[in-house]
Amino acid sequence: MVILCTNDDGHRAHGLALLAEAAASLGDVWIVAPDREQSATSHSLTLHRPLRVEQSGPRAYHVDGTPTDCVLLAVHSLLDRAPDVVLSGINHGPNMGEDVLYSGTVAAAMEATLLGIPAIAISYAGQEPGELDGHRPLLDRLLRALLLRDDFPRDSFFNINLPAVAAGRVTGIRFTTLGRRVYSESITRFRDPMGREWYWIGGGETRWTGREESDFRAVGAGYVSITPLHLDLTHYDLVDKVARWSVDL
Ligand code: MN
Repeated sequence: MVILCTNDDGHRAHGLALLAEAAASLGDVWIVAPDREQSATSHSLTLHRPLRVEQSGPRAYHVDGTPTDCVLLAVHSLLDRAPDVVLSGINHGPNMGEDVLYSGTVAAAMEATLLGIPAIAISYAGQEPGELDGHRPLLDRLLRALLLRDDFPRDSFFNINLPAVAAGRVTGIRFTTLGRRVYSESITRFRDPMGREWYWIGGGETRWTGREESDFRAVGAGYVSITPLHLDLTHYDLVDKVARWSVDL
């Protein structure tokens, strides 16, 4: 099995190294990852400048582009053949609820899904990437359980969040739905030493709501959350409803 590993935290991230290590027991691992922090770049594609690729090992490359760029270059140019699976992560920080709309980690898995390749995005809800080391046996079991199946769903991928607890205290695994994040006061306005006004997005306190089976609840209770996602955002029930609106041209 040829496995492509990528991420959005950059090619030096601890989570990526751990993911590649775990994947190595299942097949030939290639790493194609951004050369720097690309968190929250979502599914963006670099179209208006050329991309530089540096090789850092026999099957390891870093790219001055986004996670989506990395998957495209890997699949169409850098690997000997298309990968059988794409793993993205392990992200330093959770990707739950609406996070999946902003996350570069999740977008890399989306890009693989669009290319018809099974994919998994993995994130760690804790603050300290070093704490992930203890989760290695759990990660091995998860990858085996999901990747060695012959009925991996088509046109879908898995978004996994590991809870922020020590490995021995993980409660179990739950298959979940996306919760809802509630953002508050996440824009800071300030002046630089020259008196110019600047804005900085992020850093605000976030809370969440969601159904009983949502990802936030599972991770909060110490479970590994596995959310199956697909890319069709159509609101099918609403299509029938709005079709009855009389909209005149
Ligand atoms: Mn990230």
